[in-house]
Amino acid sequence: MSSSEHPSPKPGVMDIAAYVPGRESAPGVAKVYKLSSNESPLGPSPMVTEAFAKRNVDLAAYPDGSAHELRQAISRAYGLNPGNILCGNGSDELLGLLCQTYLAPGDEGLFTQHGFLVYKIQIMAAGARPVSVPDTDLTASVDAILDAVTRKTKIVFLANPNNPTGTYIPVSEVRRLHAGLPAHVILVLDAAYAEYVRRNDYEAGIELVSANPNVVMTRTFSKIHGLAGLRIGWMYANEAIIDACNRVRGPFNVNALAIIAGAAAIGDRAHVERAVEHNDAWLGRVCDALEGLGLKVTPSVGNFVLIHFPKTAGKTAAEADAFLSSRGYILRRVTGYGLPDSLRMTIGSAEANLGALDALKEFMA
Ligand SMILES: *Cc1c(COP(=O)(O)O)cnc(C)c1O
Repeated sequence: MSSSEHPSPKPGVMDIAAYVPGRESAPGVAKVYKLSSNESPLGPSPMVTEAFAKRNVDLAAYPDGSAHELRQAISRAYGLNPGNILCGNGSDELLGLLCQTYLAPGDEGLFTQHGFLVYKIQIMAAGARPVSVPDTDLTASVDAILDAVTRKTKIVFLANPNNPTGTYIPVSEVRRLHAGLPAHVILVLDAAYAEYVRRNDYEAGIELVSANPNVVMTRTFSKIHGLAGLRIGWMYANEAIIDACNRVRGPFNVNALAIIAGAAAIGDRAHVERAVEHNDAWLGRVCDALEGLGLKVTPSVGNFVLIHFPKTAGKTAAEADAFLSSRGYILRRVTGYGLPDSLRMTIGSAEANLGALDALKEFMA
């Protein structure tokens, strides 16, 4: 059989580098601390378990395709119109949905140099051209993004704060970015880590969306809400964008358990506050300890830190990763993000943080 007889994916698909998730196990190690996927060490709100116990979910029935209950709960929590909210099977699905809805072959989608890899994948999957824009000091550069915009640009993705760098740009810069974009370009503000940020000059993007028809904010239940396993995300956007995406999305894209869990979780502000406080208490402590070991750390406003290792044999990021894994501490290599000399560490439980720091101390000695 000649190769031309095989089914072939549409042009561009085989150029996509598949997303590699953070590892979850280490061979031969009994107790593993997973600090590779920015999950919450606190887990979900106890109200999620309560809601599951109280509700008799009919698993044979399709879920509510409009995820009404979840959208209502989100709109109550943030004071938003439920008609401007669309839920997804994780915010990853929504990022892809925006690409499928707005990008055609010949169009360009922009993202930042060390930005979240899902953007590039989804832009390419839509058949459009991915354009990577250089960062300055591992931080998004508004000037560089605006310089990269062409007549073909349709979407600009900005993770704020960004993963894996942990850096953010202030709301004044986000506004300047929006003001410089042509009206036909959608600015997607991915605010997956918004709840963790404690800076007066930060905003997730709600006001920008409310005031503009070409801004989308995406959020997730995977990080602060500790529900990564259920896959729940949402976006806030103008009705025209919600309407277009509703035509393209799967009719039952959010499952019945996710709808119940998300609605319960977003109402539990005390649990979110506990998660923020845990992160606050440990983020500075972990960074100080790492710097005390002679390692450079990029200042982070999220629930993770980017650690930079020397190129010296015996002390490289790859060797640190192997050493930590052998002790059961799984961090994230970020070579795919153009950061071969760095590891990303999630702020975990006290036990996980202290153990990982101890192991790194031994490694650096
Ligand atoms: C973790 C993360 C998400 C969340 O993805 P889900 O599909 O909602 O789990 C989105 N954007 C960024 C930048 C992330 O790091």
